[in-house]
Amino acid sequence: MRVQCALCDKIDNIPDFSTTAKKLRNKPIRTYLCDECNTRITENTEARIATGRFKLYRSSHTTEDQF
Ligand SMILES: [Zn+2]
Repeated sequence: MRVQCALCDKIDNIPDFSTTAKKLRNKPIRTYLCDECNTRITENTEARIATGRFKLYRSSHTTEDQF
């Protein structure tokens, strides 16, 4: 099964019977990320959690008051 990475447009060939292939059949194909981008996204997400930026989204009403 040929899949295209949503971020870098790299074409990967994954086994039809793999877990990833099964997941992609249930979801739009654009959600596929190659290993490289997947690692990058995971690192970015963890960095964001580490800096506490995710907390801003939860207290959005407080942010609105400031504007
Ligand atoms: Zn990629």
